[in-house]
Amino acid sequence: MQPLLGLEAGDLQALLPPGEPPFRARQLYEALYHQRAASFDQISNLPLPLRNHLAAHHSIGHLAPVSRFQSTDGTRRYLLGLADSKSVEAVFMPEDARDTLCISTQVGCPVDCKFCLTALMGLERNLTAGEIVGQVLYLAQDNGLWSDRKRINIVMMGQGEPLLNLDAVLKATRLLCDPKGLDISQRRITVSTSGIIPRIAELAQAPVRPRLAISLNASNEEQRRELMPITRKYHLSDLMEACRAYPLRPWEKLTFEYVLLRDFNDTDQDARRVVRLLANLNCKVNLIALNPGPGIPFETPGPDRVASFQAILRRSLPCFLRRPRGLDIYAACGQLKRMDSTLVSL
Ligand code: SAH
Ligand code: SF4
Repeated sequence: MQPLLGLEAGDLQALLPPGEPPFRARQLYEALYHQRAASFDQISNLPLPLRNHLAAHHSIGHLAPVSRFQSTDGTRRYLLGLADSKSVEAVFMPEDARDTLCISTQVGCPVDCKFCLTALMGLERNLTAGEIVGQVLYLAQDNGLWSDRKRINIVMMGQGEPLLNLDAVLKATRLLCDPKGLDISQRRITVSTSGIIPRIAELAQAPVRPRLAISLNASNEEQRRELMPITRKYHLSDLMEACRAYPLRPWEKLTFEYVLLRDFNDTDQDARRVVRLLANLNCKVNLIALNPGPGIPFETPGPDRVASFQAILRRSLPCFLRRPRGLDIYAACGQLKRMDSTLVSL
C-alpha cells in the first residue's frame, strides 16, 4: 500500500478518485501534516466513502517504533521501522531552551569516513521524504513537543549523507516548513554534509532550504583525503570555494564541524590552518571530540588539547565545543549503527 506521508498537495490531488474537488486534497494534506492524523478515522472532515477508499489503497505511513534507548543525560535514541522491514535511527536531545531532533536521511551511508561507525554499514538505501518527515512526527509526538513547537530544532545529522539524497531532503524540508504542514521554521533546521560539491550549489537554489553545515574535520587536503576519502573526488580547495560562493540568507552563517582526533588533526598547527582556511567566511565552528567506537582507528584527545585548539580558533571566529549526548546508549555523533545487542530497550 502506498503511504501518503511524504506526498505534497499536488501529489495528493493526483491520487484522489476523479471528480474530487481540489479542496479535498488540501484537507487531506492538512490532516496529514498539520493535524497529524494517526489514522484515516481521525480525518473526519473527509466524507466516509472517500476515507474508506483511501484506507483501502493507502497507509498513512507513520514509522513503527522498534526500540527506544534512554540515556542518563535525557537523550533518547530511537530505532524506527520502515515498510520494507529495514530500520533507521533518530535521536531526541532535550536542552534548556530547545529540543533537538537528530534525524537520518539514508539507511547507512556510502561515504567512507574513517572515524564514523555509520560508514561501516555502507549504504542500504535512501530514505523517502515521508520517512524523513516520519522521524520528526514520531519523536515530537513521543516527547510531547507539539505543545511548544518553537522549541523544536532539527538537525539532519543522523545516518546518511543528506546531499546524496537531496530531492527527498528538500521535499521533506518543504513539508516540515510549510505553515499548513508541520510549520517548523527553516531557521531551525540544519543539514550537514561531508562536502558533495555539486549538490551544495543545487541546495543553494532551493527556495526553502535548511541551514548548511559542512563536516570539515581536517586542516589540509592530504589529511582530509586520508580521513574522508570522498575528498579525492571533491577536493578541499574546491569545497572551500563552494562555501565562499554559497548565498547565505541575511540571518544565516555557515557551520563547520570538526571532529578532533588525537595526534591526527588536533595540534595547534592544525588549528591555525583551520583559521586560515575559514578566513573571510561568515561562519562558526563546532568542535566535537571523537566519540570512540569499535573498529574506529582513532582516539579522543584529552581536554587540554581540545581547550588549546578551541582557544586558537576563538581568536578569529565563534567556536563551540559540542558536548557528547547519549554516549551511554550509542546515540552520539558517529555512533549510529544499531548497537542494540548490548543495551536494554525501554
Ligand atoms: N553525513 C553527514 C551528516 C551525518 S554525520 C556529515 O558527515 O556531515 C554528522 C556529524 O557527525 C558530522 O559532522 C561528522 O563529522 C560527525 N561524526 C561522525 N563520526 C563521528 C565520531 N565518531 N565522533 C564525533 N563526531 C563524528
Ligand atoms: Fe556518512 Fe557523515 Fe558518517 Fe561520513 S560522517 S560516513 S558522511 S554519516
